Amino acid sequence: MKEKDGVMIGLECHVQLDTVTKLFCGCKTQAEEPNSACCPVCLGHPGSKPVLNAKALDYALKVAAALGCEINREFFFSRKTYFYPDMSKNFQITQYEIPLGLKGSVTLSSGRKIGITRVHLEEDPAALVHESGMGTSNFSLVDYNRSGIPLVEIVTEPDMVSPEEARDFLDQLTTILSYLKVFSPTTGVLKADCNASVYGHARVEVKNVTGKKGVEKALAYEIARQKNLLLNEKNIVRETRAFDEKTMTTRATRGKETEADYGYITDPDLTAFELSEEDIEGMKKALPELHADKAKRFVEELGLDEYTAKVLANNFQLGNVFEQVAKEVESKLAAKFLTRELMAVVNRSELDLDKIELDPEEISALLKLLSSGKITEKVSKQALIVYLTRNIPPTKFVEKQGLSKDLGEGEIEKAVEAVLIQNKQAVSDLKQGKQKSLNFLVGYVMRLTKAKAEPRLVQEMILKKVKGM
Ligand SMILES: [Zn+2]
Repeated sequence: MKEKDGVMIGLECHVQLDTVTKLFCGCKTQAEEPNSACCPVCLGHPGSKPVLNAKALDYALKVAAALGCEINREFFFSRKTYFYPDMSKNFQITQYEIPLGLKGSVTLSSGRKIGITRVHLEEDPAALVHESGMGTSNFSLVDYNRSGIPLVEIVTEPDMVSPEEARDFLDQLTTILSYLKVFSPTTGVLKADCNASVYGHARVEVKNVTGKKGVEKALAYEIARQKNLLLNEKNIVRETRAFDEKTMTTRATRGKETEADYGYITDPDLTAFELSEEDIEGMKKALPELHADKAKRFVEELGLDEYTAKVLANNFQLGNVFEQVAKEVESKLAAKFLTRELMAVVNRSELDLDKIELDPEEISALLKLLSSGKITEKVSKQALIVYLTRNIPPTKFVEKQGLSKDLGEGEIEKAVEAVLIQNKQAVSDLKQGKQKSLNFLVGYVMRLTKAKAEPRLVQEMILKKVKGM
């Protein structure tokens, strides 16, 4: 968009790769106690030597391939030098001159393509925790558990035109990463440097924003701020800003380094790497089915409409759960239940779908009870709410509450007989073919049995008995 009021947004996304160990040492990536998962390598002690984690390289290459990048067969690592308390060795190992991948794209849900400039592998610095102490003393703690965690950096072209598009881009990106099984939406961290400008004016970078929602909010504030400056005939200064999650605003930071200030040098401890043509081809062939293809398959093979298919496939877990459940029950019932009922509970209770573990077997069992008429739709919805909000399996809930329509035929028959004796007028009306009386009698039996009878069976019994009267 190059209109007067147009906005240009580009993102530099840092996504944690879901490996067991760090990028250049054997320390674990998940640890409870601060500073419990670090060693001379990730702390940068003298004489320590980094060794590249093959899994992390494999994961980052998969990302580059899945985003349609050209993959560089030869690459190496560089040291980006700067001083900060989160960087005990005073440099970060990253890729600068030659990244793993160049020139890819991500397709938004609108169908618009966002260009990917580059994809590279790098290590995360440590985490700084800012605390306020007694009185006026403020202090910061450093947790080196994060130092050396593998990150894939994905840099986009300034192709996005609104905060909503940036959010959609991140949704699409994290879906792809989940399908590749290289990113965990539950434990993985996503951060982005957000570049935003109003067309024809200076670009501002909002650094280090955490999470998808954070990026959307930071950009919304920043763009409003820039437009407001222009409205008041003020200049937009090219600068780096930080996002404050508490106030949802951005503020100028003092850091004014440019890429040249980092004095990148090739890391002498890590040799140059070379991939064969076969390596790259083999890896491209081994890429799993991604969400766009999965949605297409849901339409073609399972007869879903395009919208429903996309809602299911756009979430890695939901798509997989649907596929499992659709093997057990009618696929349209499964799709409707997951996209409407389940998503309604998720949205209403503001739950994070990625943080809930769904068991396809439990959902299948619940839908079987529903489709066979053993429970009502209302009960299925109650069971779902309890499952999602309190993690009580639906089958347990139904069993415990005695909500299953489990009356035996003998008991139902007794109830039917009692109702027929008590409602002589309705019976004679029914004999004369009045459909309303049948509904009345069925309703009566359902009330008497506390809805624990199968309505179709009740109806059949009533008709049979009335006929013989
Ligand atoms: Zn280590």
